[in-house]
Order: sequence, then structure tokens, then C-alpha cells
Amino acid sequence: LQRLTGTGAVSGAVLSDGRELDVDFVIAGVGIAPATALAEAAGVALNNGIAVDAQGRTSDPHIWAAGDCTSFPYQGGRIRLESVPNAIDQAEVVAENIMGAGKDYIAKPWFWSDQYDVKLQIAGLNTGYTDVVSRIGAGQTASFWYYRDGALLAVDAMNDPRAYMIGKRLIEAGKTADPAMVADPETDLKPLLKA
Ligand SMILES: Cc1cc2nc3c(=O)[nH]c(=O)nc-3n(C[C@H](O)[C@H](O)[C@H](O)COP(=O)(O)OP(=O)(O)OC[C@H]3O[C@@H](n4cnc5c(N)ncnc54)[C@H](O)[C@@H]3O)c2cc1C
Repeated sequence: LQRLTGTGAVSGAVLSDGRELDVDFVIAGVGIAPATALAEAAGVALNNGIAVDAQGRTSDPHIWAAGDCTSFPYQGGRIRLESVPNAIDQAEVVAENIMGAGKDYIAKPWFWSDQYDVKLQIAGLNTGYTDVVSRIGAGQTASFWYYRDGALLAVDAMNDPRAYMIGKRLIEAGKTADPAMVADPETDLKPLLKA
């Protein structure tokens, strides 16, 4: 992409090979690639970002890292979590570890964002889901519940903080949610927390 064109609203995209595309709207994706140049120059191991252990130590035991730029152990694999809650929670644990706490960071992924009039809240990670159950409420209220072979993995909630809160607590407790209850927006989900 070389430049966008249009008056008042975008109408075209000029590419570096000279082609011009008609465009109705643009989605700009920024902040996706981790900035690892400094870590690379320091000679620490990279693996989808700066590879750290569960305590936040890089391959150089004197260098620690936290936040978007790191990949860390999670449920038998490694992830890089790009969210404010992770940047804060991981950094707090890593700071304690620099002071000698020796604590593993156990990520509990969650995310929020306000997109115009939609409050988006996500609990868990839906990677590897096999089923998704939609809970469509009134107006712009909805939540999407992701399962892998019956186990609840993640909940995406739009303007539905209650669904988000219940989903988050269920996921953190290692509990699941009956898909039939979830699918019916009239069903109170709170009893699931006591099951
Ligand atoms: C467009 C956009 C929207 C987002 N919306 C949300 C949202 O709604 N909710 C949410 O939870 N998260 C959101 N995020 C993600 C959130 O911004 C990040 O997860 C969070 O900022 C990560 O914090 P951090 O401290 O790890 O890294 P950053 O905030 O990226 O800070 C890293 C800093 O290090 C600096 N730096 C890098 N290399 C060097 C170097 N060599 N020397 C000196 N300084 C260096 C950078 O300039 C930067 O200031 C969004 C991100 C983007 C890009």
C-alpha cells in the first residue's frame, strides 16, 4: 500500500506497483509485530517475541522482560498476549521476581475495549475451539461462548458485562457452562457458578 485516496471518505488505494483499487472502507492493523531489535542486539533468544521463562527471565539470566514483546509458557505451549491486563499483571510478577520472589506468572487472559458504543470484553482464549454458542440478547447485547470438546475456553461479550463476568469466573475455576442454558438469553447463568 502506497497511499489511500478520497475526499471526505476513502475511495481508493494506490499500490506501490501503480495499481489502484476501489475501496469502501479500511481496517488499519497496527502494533502486531513485537519490537525485538534491542533484545536481538543483546543476544537473547527470540521466539515469537522475546522468549522468557515463567518468571520473566530471558535466555540471559540477568535480563528480564514483560508485556506485549514477550512470549511465555502457557498451558504446555508458549503465547504472546497483547493486552493491557497482561502487560500490567505480567510486569508486576516479573518486577517481584527481579527482587527475588521466584514466582511463576500464570496468565488469566482477559481483554476489554470500547469500540464506539460497543463495550467488548473477552475472557479466556478461544484458540482450538470446536463449538461456539451464541447468546443474543436485546439491542446490541450478545456473547459468544467457545468450547473445545465440551470444555469452556473463552467468552466474547458485547455490551454484556454479566456474561463476561460469569464466563471469566467459570473459566478460571475450570468449570464449563451448559450450552443450552448459554444459548437462551432468558436463562440466568449465575447458578452455573455454584454448580
Ligand atoms: C491500535 C491498538 C489498540 C489497542 N487496544 C487495546 C484495547 O482496547 N485493550 C487492551 O487491553 N489492549 C489494547 N491494545 C494493546 C495494548 O496497547 C498493549 O497490550 C499494551 O500497550 C502493551 O504494553 P507494553 O508495556 O507491553 O508495551 P507498549 O505499550 O507497546 O510499550 C513498549 C514501549 O517500548 C518502547 N520501545 C520499544 N523498543 C525500544 C527500544 N529499543 N528502546 C527504547 N524504547 C523502546 C516503545 O516505543 C513503547 O513505548 C491495543 C494496541 C493497539 C496497537
